Amino acid sequence: MRKPVFAANWKMNHGPQDTRAFLTRFLAVYPPRDDRTVIVLPPAVSLAVAGFALRDRPDVQLGVQSIHWEDKGAFTGETSAPMARDCGATVALVGHSERRQLFGETDDMTARKCAAAVRAGLTPLLCVGERIEERDRGITLAVVLRQVKAGLSRLDKSHIASMAIAYEPVWAIGTGKTARPEDATIVHTAIRRHLREVITSRAEDVAILYGGSVTAENAAELLAAPEVNGLLVGSASLDADTWARIAST
Ligand code: PEP
Repeated sequence: MRKPVFAANWKMNHGPQDTRAFLTRFLAVYPPRDDRTVIVLPPAVSLAVAGFALRDRPDVQLGVQSIHWEDKGAFTGETSAPMARDCGATVALVGHSERRQLFGETDDMTARKCAAAVRAGLTPLLCVGERIEERDRGITLAVVLRQVKAGLSRLDKSHIASMAIAYEPVWAIGTGKTARPEDATIVHTAIRRHLREVITSRAEDVAILYGGSVTAENAAELLAAPEVNGLLVGSASLDADTWARIAST
């Protein structure tokens, strides 16, 4: 049975000292449980500290927010998938809308990054989502499915079956506007249908997360929506107690 996934994307917050303090508090208030997968995604500079803090808590996985598509080389400022793995990461976020919008990440790059993650033994968590003008033009599903197809394009079927996908409407990220649960279900259902075409029955293994202004107050309602298998949370994951509440939904 696929377990619900709760992923905390800290973005450019929590350096090493804050990360240590956060995880000390979070691990104290969030006892291990095996009915869900919890992932924290600190900035790259905090990965090693987080990996050390989580060494005795295999129930909490570590993820990297962005990787380069090459394993090493002259790419100043970048983090490779093997380096993240070396810090203890098991998950790589790929294609977050802030990467796409602010740093020019294209569908081709997300495809290469998913492949790099798999090469290093990391599970890709591929983010997809439409901008408000795309929603207004009625092309949400076309945009999302284009991004999904690109992200999967360099992976073989077994790797697709073990990855996760996050639907994050861009207009809902960091804005306080949340998609209605029924709107999330429409998009998640379309993604699932595409996965069935590609990997048949193993499509059911892929967790499809919703992200966009999730809070401790709206988490349960979103998680209850059909085809919503988890939550990707930004701002509301920055406080250890709030994150423990959301991860316990
Ligand atoms: C995100 O960054 O993935 C996100 C969903 O952010 P927020 O929860 O702040 O909207």
